Amino acid sequence: HDVTGILAVQGAFAEHAATLDKLGASWRLLRAAEDFDDSISRVILPGGESTTQGKLLHSTGLFDPIKQHIDAGKPVLGTCAGMILLASKLDNDDNVYFGELDAVVHRNAYGRQLGSFQTVGSFGDIHDLPLVFIRGPYVAHVGPKATVETEVDGHVVGLRQGNILATAFHPELTDDTRVHELFLSL
Ligand code: GLN
Repeated sequence: HDVTGILAVQGAFAEHAATLDKLGASWRLLRAAEDFDDSISRVILPGGESTTQGKLLHSTGLFDPIKQHIDAGKPVLGTCAGMILLASKLDNDDNVYFGELDAVVHRNAYGRQLGSFQTVGSFGDIHDLPLVFIRGPYVAHVGPKATVETEVDGHVVGLRQGNILATAFHPELTDDTRVHELFLSL
């Protein structure tokens, strides 16, 4: 009855499942609308390619149950492409997906040379956190409902809005499980 649904239409869903395994948390891959039932109490939107994920969200019928989950204020963790799916607006793409996160997000924000890099930073109270970026976005504008949790070189790359956690980086690609622990505590 506390099962994390991991969107698994495309992208880095297996890494999130492995992190939840380390923490002993139950999860289910969400590939089709039938996979989303009342046992799903939290949702992870993984990294990957947001345009592809957006199309597959609609063709699988998973968009509506996940949208209702977020509307109800239930916990969601969006990493990288997942942050893009959550944003209320993108400043370099006309698509809007769930539109729940009060932020304008810039896709593929780091140029080609800096597209993938690692650094160390914070997510709120979680400090000395390894941050892995893979052609990630950054937040161009933070609206009043969201709070900044992570900044790297003057760019906002981690946000929280109630039970929504969103990172431009990939906590599932490191051994540090603290962002997932925070998510499981919501
Ligand atoms: N570049 C991808 C996009 O815009 C996001 C990258 C990622 O999730 N690693 O959808």
